[in-house]
Amino acid sequence: MALAASAGSAWPALAAAASSAEKREPELWPQPLAVPGGVARVALGPAPERPRARTAQDVPLLVVGDMIAWTALVGIPLSAQTGASHIEVQGSAAEPARRLAFRIAPKKYREQQLKVPPRTVDLSAEDMARYERERDHQKEVMATWTPPPAGPLQLAVPVPGRRSSSFGLRRVFNGQPRNPHSGMDIAAATGTPVHAPLDGQVIDTGDYFFNGNTVWMDHGGGLLTMYCHLSRIDVRTGDRLATGQVLGQVGATGRVTGPHLHWGVMLNRTMVDPALFIET
Ligand code: ZN
Repeated sequence: MALAASAGSAWPALAAAASSAEKREPELWPQPLAVPGGVARVALGPAPERPRARTAQDVPLLVVGDMIAWTALVGIPLSAQTGASHIEVQGSAAEPARRLAFRIAPKKYREQQLKVPPRTVDLSAEDMARYERERDHQKEVMATWTPPPAGPLQLAVPVPGRRSSSFGLRRVFNGQPRNPHSGMDIAAATGTPVHAPLDGQVIDTGDYFFNGNTVWMDHGGGLLTMYCHLSRIDVRTGDRLATGQVLGQVGATGRVTGPHLHWGVMLNRTMVDPALFIET
């Protein structure tokens, strides 16, 4: 898959805007959308070295760009309060941190009713203990931090198929409200190969109570991607994958209503809408 060949410069934000009659915005990946579940792009200005930026909760942020213009990418939790927010930025270790403000606009997500096996909603003591162990493990996986990626952050769609716009839906399982849907579901038959959307390293694989067979990838700078409900996992923790390499196959493991890929994209330990990273 020819990824991001459209951007001549490494950072599309710096590419000259098209000079045709229909003047197009230069392509930005991820697309800016400062709402709960979206990504805010906060301009940090010029600096000789990549500034360090953190959320108000002290989680490191992915900073992209070059010495002419740096930008912090801020993943906004679905549970975030709308209105004024801020990040902390430091040009170098010697400099004091400065506070940069940004605004989170409201976005209304619809409600979705789902029917699943009762044991996946009202957990037995044993299943609850398993889930809690897995949640603690996932927290460690999500805290992975490696150097930021060098290239553009456009992602390839991991599986061809009908993409639901179900990110952010407030979900009600068997009549009981649960966490909102924090990924993109792509409909595909069991056995369909799932491809890495960007170069990266496999940082976790496992069979989890809700997510079924799962693969996590680290793309650097806190940009992680997650693949759930797989029928088969074809990689191991530590494997380095190039864009397009197969990591597993679509399935229906875990809490699902049928075979599909659940695709999660994470920035600063926050699940954000994968649609902001792909050509739609
Ligand atoms: Zn899903």
